Parts: sequence; C-alpha cells; structure tokens
Amino acid sequence: MSGKIFLKRGKEKPLRHHHPWIFSGAIQRVENANDGDTVDVFDAGGEWLARAAYNARSQIAARVWTFERDEQIDREFFVRRIVGAKHLRTRLEEAIDVVGANALPLRAYRLVNAESDFLPGVVIDRYGEFLVAQFLTLGAELHKQTIAGVLQEQFGTRGIYERSDVDVRKKEGLQETTGVLWGAEPPGKIEIVENDLRFWVDVKRGHKTGFYLDQRVNRLRAVSYLMGDVLNVFAYTGAFGVYAAKINNATVTNLDASASALELARENFALNGVAENAEFVTADAFEKLREYRGQGRKFDAIVLDPPKFVTSAANLERATRGYKDLNLLAFQLLNPNGFLITFSCSGLVSPDLFQKIVFGASVDAKRDAQIVEKLGQSPDHPIGLHFPEGEYLKGLILRVL
Ligand code: SAH
Repeated sequence: MSGKIFLKRGKEKPLRHHHPWIFSGAIQRVENANDGDTVDVFDAGGEWLARAAYNARSQIAARVWTFERDEQIDREFFVRRIVGAKHLRTRLEEAIDVVGANALPLRAYRLVNAESDFLPGVVIDRYGEFLVAQFLTLGAELHKQTIAGVLQEQFGTRGIYERSDVDVRKKEGLQETTGVLWGAEPPGKIEIVENDLRFWVDVKRGHKTGFYLDQRVNRLRAVSYLMGDVLNVFAYTGAFGVYAAKINNATVTNLDASASALELARENFALNGVAENAEFVTADAFEKLREYRGQGRKFDAIVLDPPKFVTSAANLERATRGYKDLNLLAFQLLNPNGFLITFSCSGLVSPDLFQKIVFGASVDAKRDAQIVEKLGQSPDHPIGLHFPEGEYLKGLILRVL
C-alpha cells in the first residue's frame, strides 16, 4: 500500500496553485511512508491533491512530482518531464550558440532547472558532449539511475557526471557525492563556446557544475559597456573579462579569492588570443577594492558578480550590508561616465531590494547614476510561474556620473 500524507486544514492552497513544496508544519498526519517514498497527498477533507517525494528529515517534508492523479512516477514520467525541458532548449539553441550547427559538440546550457522545470531537486547542465547532474533531494537521489538512462536516450551523450557535492544535501540527510553516473569520464577541461567565445570548463572541480551558465545572456549585454580599463570583480574563470578583452580590446583586471579559478581564467584569455589584455589578482574583493580606493585607482567599467551572500533569512541584514559596501566601493572607483554592472544571486534579495541597496550605495558615494539595463537569469534557467523562488539572479547596468 502506498504512503499517504494528510495536510492540516487550510494548508492546501499553495498546492492548489501547483507550488511543489510541502513544509513539515503543514502536515497533519503521515500513513505508511518512509523517507524517499512516493506518497499521495490529501487535503484535510481527504481530497487527493498531488503525488510527492516524502522525506521527514527535511523541513520541506515533501516535494511534488505531479498534480495529475493518474500519473505514476515511473520511467515514462521522467521521459515526459525531460522531453518537456528539452523542448524549451531546442527553441533556445540558436540563441545559445551563434556559431551554428557545426559547433553542436561545444554547446553549454542548463537542460533541466529543477522545480522550475517540474523536476524538484534535479539539475542537469550540458557541456558539449557531456552532461553534468546534481541531485539535491532524496526524491531525486533515488531516481537518479532512471534519470541518467532517460538523459542518455534523449541526448546521446558521451558521459554523465554527477556533481552532488552541494551543502543542501545535508538538509535532506544525504552525503555529498561525485563521480561518473554513466559512460565516459569527462576530461579535466572541456572546451565550450559561448556567444562565439571559447572557454575551458572544469566540470569535475569547478564551482557548481563548472561554469556560471546563468550569466550567458548578461555577458553579451554587459559587453557593450565594458571598455577601456575594466575591473572584473569575482572573476571566477574570467568570463566577463574575456568578452571585454576580445570584443572591445579592453584591459581587464580580474580579481578573485580563488587562485585555481584565476589559473583557468588565464588559460581562457589565452584560448581567445587576448592574454596580453589581462591581469590576475588573487585577493579578497573587499580588501582589494579598499586598497584601490586608497591608491586613487580608477576604472572605466566594473563588474561585480559576488557569490550568494544571503543563505537564510537570518543573515539577510548582514548580507545586505555586504552588497552595499561592495557597490559603494565600486561607485568610488569609477571614472566619470563609467559603467557599473552589478549582480546579486541571492534568491532572498528581491530585485526591488537589490535596486534599493545599490541606490543607497550611490547616495553614500555621492555618485548619481542611471539604470541602463535590468538583467535576470538566462532563459535556459526558466522560472516556474508556480515557483517564484526560482528567480534568484538579478543585475543592473548603470551609467555612473
Ligand atoms: N563572474 C563569474 C562568476 C562569479 S562566482 C563568471 O561569470 O563566471 C563568484 C566568485 O567569487 C567565485 O569565483 C569565488 O571564488 C569568488 N569569491 C568569493 N568570495 C570572494 C571574496 N571575498 N573575494 C574575492 N572573490 C571571492
């Protein structure tokens, strides 16, 4: 007999709107369910609502796979979901890759974006002939072999590599794990093409699945303003800087705390024939920007793409100060008529709040500015309309007086 969850009275509304999360506090009682089981979810009156993956260890005690009563969570279910996700990416392929069909083996983009692609806990990125997967929840973990099989069938990859070395697995009672899920092991560096530029990606050791694919469209937008002396803060493997150097012949100072990321950044400038345009500085961004300010150093454009500062509502205030300090320093380091391209990838910081923080920084720096463009995550990272939490990346391009 399959397990059942009954919700407390009045707690069914988000589910009726197809939000996929069921918090433990919304559950009245659980029947016959072990962690990882697929369960049927009912409202307090006994009406069927959804079929979900149950995990008592997580605060999000169940995540909905389907709101269709006759849909079973079997291989065919994962085929339907992955084919749906593929449909969007097929539409996006031309936008993703302006090199043309010949470059197919070099394409990189997100194939499955978890809840926003109706597959809670499942992230799949494509890097040329390899796929890289993250399974963030117990429900996803237990189906990973099935998912790998479907991916192989749908995309015919050379190999699928798992990068489930993410903190959030702890909340699900899962260990971090990495390794080959299917087929061949990816090489130490995979070459990809993004908007006609070339990059090495280390899918086995790099951040996330190796590359910040969510910034693809933004890199193209930002490059219009990245001229002259450019400071690329939180450079990682150099992407924004390579665009500026290659397309505008800009001189780029790449700043990051990670020496190994900057090592790959150096190779990426070389791969695009612009090694001469770049400088690499391994340092803490806050300290280095203060030092530059002390020296009276100025730049024509600055990119600020920090890591996620807000990890929970509890540190929102502190993190807000972090964003404010950084943006304040950036305003102070810009030449008149300079451009600031500034991001936040904290989901808990709304676009409105982010704009207010940046405004506060401009006031303190006594530098008026205008918003030239507002940026979000690239379209291969869609935001489920039912799942506003899926929106996390926002950016502003500012002209600073
Ligand atoms: N802009 C990059 C992605 C940035 S990810 C791209 O387009 O690919 C965030 C980066 O911030 C990581 O490379 C990380 O090493 C770096 N980082 C984190 N904390 C830092 C700090 N305090 N000072 C400098 N760099 C830091």
